Amino acid sequence: MGRLVYLNGALVPRDEAKISVFDHGLLYGDGVFEGIRVYGGRVFRLDEHLKRLYEGARAIRLTVPLDQEAMAQAIWDTVAANSHLTDGYIRLVVTRGVGTLGLGPTLCKQGQVIIIYDTIALYPEELYEKGLELVTAKTVRNHPDALDPHVKNLNYLNNILAKIEGLDAGVVEALMLNYRGDVAEATGDNVFIVRGGVVQTPSLDSGILEGITRDEVIRLCRDKGREVQEIRITVDDLLAADECFLTGTAAEVIPVVKLDGHTIGDGKPGPVTREILADYRRLTRGE
Ligand code: PMP
Repeated sequence: MGRLVYLNGALVPRDEAKISVFDHGLLYGDGVFEGIRVYGGRVFRLDEHLKRLYEGARAIRLTVPLDQEAMAQAIWDTVAANSHLTDGYIRLVVTRGVGTLGLGPTLCKQGQVIIIYDTIALYPEELYEKGLELVTAKTVRNHPDALDPHVKNLNYLNNILAKIEGLDAGVVEALMLNYRGDVAEATGDNVFIVRGGVVQTPSLDSGILEGITRDEVIRLCRDKGREVQEIRITVDDLLAADECFLTGTAAEVIPVVKLDGHTIGDGKPGPVTREILADYRRLTRGE
């Protein structure tokens, strides 16, 4: 069977999944989205992703045209319609909808819902073994009073510009600081460090997205009795750490071994990171 995309209530072949050029998601980045993994045919943490999407939509006063139950059903239907993929990645997008050439949201009559189910590989597999290198981006993460990073909205230009800085420097990921100059997150992942066996991650007031993988990792650690601190983290803290890793739905758990050319710890993925990575794989894949 060909690949099908959900578009406003219908499952259509991907070549026919088209929306208007007047959609305000395209014209202004006006909308919200989620990235969700499917493991072994099961949608991972769907309730958490839908909760974040609907809260984000409320925050930007966007009415999602389906209720949460109907949205969950639409997602399951899309996965079922693409049964050649038992493991994959769902991109759920809700835009403000079709309007006119003015940014007023009231010009849009109805939000549009897009659900794509495909595969994703954010980083080369070998980096999960060797660890990746980051550079600190000059592009600062959006000020929370300008565009709240808690809302997973369609404005990713901030993150894309940081990603370009990383690519220009010859690495695949960049570290973003918040307006105070503290560590916020990577361009599409949350950041963790390990110091003396204690796991630390920027607190929610650090201008970050509250990652669902971040929450899972915190829970996995605490379940094992490992201390986790959600605190303010500086670049110096990161450089002084024994270990560093990133978390995200697409990235899962990936070690970081260098920042701006400086080696973190002994330059290899550390034991705590490797343990968390193994625990996360066990949780998601039953490995
Ligand atoms: N931060 C940003 C900016 C993101 O876009 C994402 C999701 N790709 C994350 C963190 C990680 O969030 P989650 O674990 O919910 O995927």
